[in-house]
Amino acid sequence: MQRLLKPDSQIIITTHHKPDADALGSSLGLFHFLKNKGYTNVTVISPTDFANFLHWMPSSETVIDYEAKTEHCKALVAAADFAFCLDFNWLKRINEMGQEVRNGKCQTILVDHHLDPENFDDYRLWDTSACSTAELIYRIIMDWGGKEAITKDIAECLYAGILTDTGNFRHDTTNATTHRIVADLLEAGAKSSYVQAQLYDNYSLDRQRFIGYCLAHKLEILPGLPVALFTITREELHKYKIITGDTEGLVNYGLSIKGIKLAALIVDRTKKIKMSFRGTGKFPCNEFAGRYFKGGGHFSAAGGESDDSLNNVVNQFKTHIKEYETYLV
Ligand code: 5GP
Ligand code: MN
Repeated sequence: MQRLLKPDSQIIITTHHKPDADALGSSLGLFHFLKNKGYTNVTVISPTDFANFLHWMPSSETVIDYEAKTEHCKALVAAADFAFCLDFNWLKRINEMGQEVRNGKCQTILVDHHLDPENFDDYRLWDTSACSTAELIYRIIMDWGGKEAITKDIAECLYAGILTDTGNFRHDTTNATTHRIVADLLEAGAKSSYVQAQLYDNYSLDRQRFIGYCLAHKLEILPGLPVALFTITREELHKYKIITGDTEGLVNYGLSIKGIKLAALIVDRTKKIKMSFRGTGKFPCNEFAGRYFKGGGHFSAAGGESDDSLNNVVNQFKTHIKEYETYLV
């Protein structure tokens, strides 16, 4: 990569819409590293806004929201020599910006750990065994700059990505290497209690009441199947003043019920129906999401979307899930 980038290269870093802590943390981790290496023309563009609990990340205030500043972002994409594409591998994951990146003059560098890449990229660091994209950014930095290159800002951003994408070190993507990387990040100055407080103790009272409401009234166990389903209407989102990031984590409550093998969350968002799937055991969430809901992701955590009505999507889910009964063990 050192050979590829020139000191005056115009570089953009982008990630999937509604970025989570891995998406934004890996983007900002790379941003800080490139800046420290002397690259002056580096900008992080997010296709949309992002959750309040990510606004603590160092330099998050410099991230440009494509939806809010579309013309400015279009000009940046058009002028870019290189576009780092982090934590996604289909251009539709960056919404309208995808076509601009595809048609633009920039060379694309994919850094990702999701299955089934689209193959739009010119260069890639793609490894589905990585626990997070932050782990891949850590590898780039170690190869290029060594441990001394990991500043406290970088360490905090990458720590947040690893922590959240491993489900707080609970998923089976977590291994000894993960913990060794984390040890390096802590030594570089990341403070675990600080990062965790920023990520997990930053919700509004409305959001907490919303979770309570969903657990009490919106959690359905499908008859005869080890499947938990939350279905959330637009009115409910409105009633509890739900904003970007507030539904994150909800689906996991379904999966933590004893015996449940698949948890699903289907939400009627303003433009589309959005769903999240979390599985344990043999259920291939990414394949299911891809086959029926134009989605993808990881084997045990995936998502999808639909332009159909909420009712229809719920019915489609209930029908199709029966076809996968043998995987629900
Ligand atoms: P979440 O359910 O938290 O939105 O996403 C879970 C995982 O699935 C993440 O790794 C995310 O990148 C991926 N994912 C979520 N929604 C979609 C989608 O609509 N399309 C694709 N390709 N991946 C998705
Ligand atoms: Mn990720």
